[in-house]
Amino acid sequence: MDTKRIRKGGLPFVPNLRDYDEMRRQFTWQQIAGELDWFDEEHINIAHIAVDAHLKTDRRTKKALIWEGKKGEVEEYTFEDLARLSNRFANVLVEQAGVVKGDRVFFFLDRVPEIFIGILGTLKAGGVIGPLFCAFGPEAVKDRMADAGAKVLVTSPGLKKRIAGILPDLPALEKVILVHRGREAEPSEDLSYEEAMAGASEVFEIVRTHGEDHAIMHYTSGTTGKPKGAVHVHAAVQGHFATARYVLDLGQDDVYWCTADPGWVTGTSYGMFGPWSNGVTQVVYEGGFSASRWYGFLEKWKVTVWYTAPTAIRMLMKSGDELPGKFDFASLRYMCSVGEPLNPEAVVWGDRIFGKPFHDNWWQTETGSIMIANYPVQDVKPGSMGRPFPGIEAGIVDDEFRELPAGQEGHLALRPGWPSMFRTYWQKDDLYASLFKEGWYISGDKAKMDEEGYFWFVGRADDVINTAGHLVGPFEVESVLIEHPAVAEAGVIGKPDPIAMEVIKAFVSLKEGIEPSDELRLDIKKFVMKRLAAAATPREIDFLPSLPKTRSGKIMRRLLKARELGLPLGDTSTLEDD
Ligand code: ATP
Ligand code: MG
Repeated sequence: MDTKRIRKGGLPFVPNLRDYDEMRRQFTWQQIAGELDWFDEEHINIAHIAVDAHLKTDRRTKKALIWEGKKGEVEEYTFEDLARLSNRFANVLVEQAGVVKGDRVFFFLDRVPEIFIGILGTLKAGGVIGPLFCAFGPEAVKDRMADAGAKVLVTSPGLKKRIAGILPDLPALEKVILVHRGREAEPSEDLSYEEAMAGASEVFEIVRTHGEDHAIMHYTSGTTGKPKGAVHVHAAVQGHFATARYVLDLGQDDVYWCTADPGWVTGTSYGMFGPWSNGVTQVVYEGGFSASRWYGFLEKWKVTVWYTAPTAIRMLMKSGDELPGKFDFASLRYMCSVGEPLNPEAVVWGDRIFGKPFHDNWWQTETGSIMIANYPVQDVKPGSMGRPFPGIEAGIVDDEFRELPAGQEGHLALRPGWPSMFRTYWQKDDLYASLFKEGWYISGDKAKMDEEGYFWFVGRADDVINTAGHLVGPFEVESVLIEHPAVAEAGVIGKPDPIAMEVIKAFVSLKEGIEPSDELRLDIKKFVMKRLAAAATPREIDFLPSLPKTRSGKIMRRLLKARELGLPLGDTSTLEDD
């Protein structure tokens, strides 16, 4: 394990916290619950906590959302604006779409302000939100909406056109609401968002949902197979609130940017509920990735806290070290990453370019909020996901679900019962139940813990490679591969072999301007061999222009493997276009 460290940088915003142990000692879920504005002991509503609860404070007129569109246009919304607009939307849903508590309302929209307003309004009305990533094709939308029995779809005319063919296959769907954003509405039986909003009252009495009432459905990324609909409840906001404060270190003066789309769990837990429940201003960029635009966005809005993902960081690295030198990041004080293992190289790169490391953290759609993290109060060990969130017990267990001591590799497991834990997979109760063993929730990932309690990701349980009696995690090999100066991205799989059971095969994409060659292949192999055991050195290396990824940006190793072996590709509904 890597023992390099990047020293913790100063004290966090939470007062009186000096180190991790102290944070664990101080923290209780009870205290967190006590800080939130429940209706009574059992009833809470995420939208109320995120927005309306601030109306009683001086944050009423504070900016909650600063949105920059693809063409550079800017819109700003205070907490009060969001409260009023989401009230209107809740009225639209109740009065014009007949939404009652528990109905599923799906969103298939670009990253426009209406998705934020719509999601808040749906939660106020007691509905269950189902955000879909706007780049999905018709089949991906159909699978999820049919599975969820969605009653309402909020979309745009352009996106509706894309999926028009599948709408008749959704018998539960009763109403489509079209967000035009300046486009002229054509006559149709759908509701026009703008017209309906204009006619709706600004006053709405938020449905007093029970903490255990369903609130959010997010489909998983589909990295390992068919996406599952993880169901979350209103009480989950306690997890969003607590982790946004202690992990993202959000405070009152921050300008926060979460790059995740609301179609993925990071985009709601940390692109809406976490920051807003803390009363924090966030900036949202509608456009897609571009290194120069992203750097420009950080500079322009004086972003102080930035939450992004390894794929984006690797793309920034790929675009070179000169470009960031042209921008001013003086305001940026804290950076976090989630979604995939963050290679040590990326942490060190961040430290070099921005003068601070990326703080990696681990969680899943199922866990609803961050479970393992690097905090401002602890040193960062590049390559480690950090330590369990206070209030969370994590462990490494063997195949019989017995806890393993430090240093041993096994299943990453969590003690169930935290507020934002998923309550089921939609209509897949058996699958859900099968993940709970001997008092643990089994995450499906493999990891190990070191003597200081830091967790190190090994790989997804299905991706771990068994070669000549050694278990090799793809992450370890990939991290070394991307340290090679020519390599931008790497994906590693186990390829069946008659003698060794599996041999390691690597797929790499190269940095801009570098051409594949046999010499380079040999050089990369030698590079890995010097740094890892012989068993972990790839037997074969293929060059690819880019690696297949899910739309949430995760390398799909199962697809690399299926292609390599000529097997069926399985569910590719979340596969990114090349
Ligand atoms: P599916 O469950 O459909 O296969 P998925 O697991 O990719 O897709 P998500 O819930 O979006 O869907 O992703 C959670 C997974 O992402 C984790 O289980 C883990 O494998 C990976 N992951 C997230 N953060 C990290 C991290 N910091 N380090 C390593 N892996 C991470
Ligand atoms: Mg998963």
